[in-house]
Amino acid sequence: MHVEFPEFRLGSVLATSFTATLTERHGNAVERIPTPRRLADWLTANDLAVETCTATELGLARDLRESIHAAATAAALQQALPASAVLVVNDCSARGRATAALTPEGNRVWELSSLGCVSDALSVIAADAISIIAGERDGKLAICASESCQAVFFDISRGSTRRWCDMNTCGNRQKKARFRANQRDKLLHV
Ligand SMILES: [Zn+2]
Repeated sequence: MHVEFPEFRLGSVLATSFTATLTERHGNAVERIPTPRRLADWLTANDLAVETCTATELGLARDLRESIHAAATAAALQQALPASAVLVVNDCSARGRATAALTPEGNRVWELSSLGCVSDALSVIAADAISIIAGERDGKLAICASESCQAVFFDISRGSTRRWCDMNTCGNRQKKARFRANQRDKLLHV
């Protein structure tokens, strides 16, 4: 039987692309890494290909994902970071043996240890989350204005004015809702 999985939402920031593997957290949540194979697919799509992925590793990955989401949300709201989330992020960061390597073209790639294991990939994601939560990179953590989404994203727009995690989904939906409301108003006022 051919099973259709929800598509990935890949952005330019690794840590928030990862938290976007669960969307609509405050509505009808969509799990985009429902199986170990899908986590492996996601890692491959993000240049962190692994040899294998087990159910336990998928559990760990989701734990890291929700911890990044919790810590980044707190940072966006300028609240204290939840201690348990910080612990998970640090644990994942410490457990990996990935190394940064320079390509002849001058790009940075991550090389996982010879086993190409999931914990190496998760450590790269955790380190990416640490660098944005710590405010080391140009940009600002923000929360999507969609009620049912409230995803945390990293805004690198000039003046940090982005309102939606994704213009094609949440932004577009809002635009359509506003259009419908306007049409309704027009009908009521003729
Ligand atoms: Zn959103």
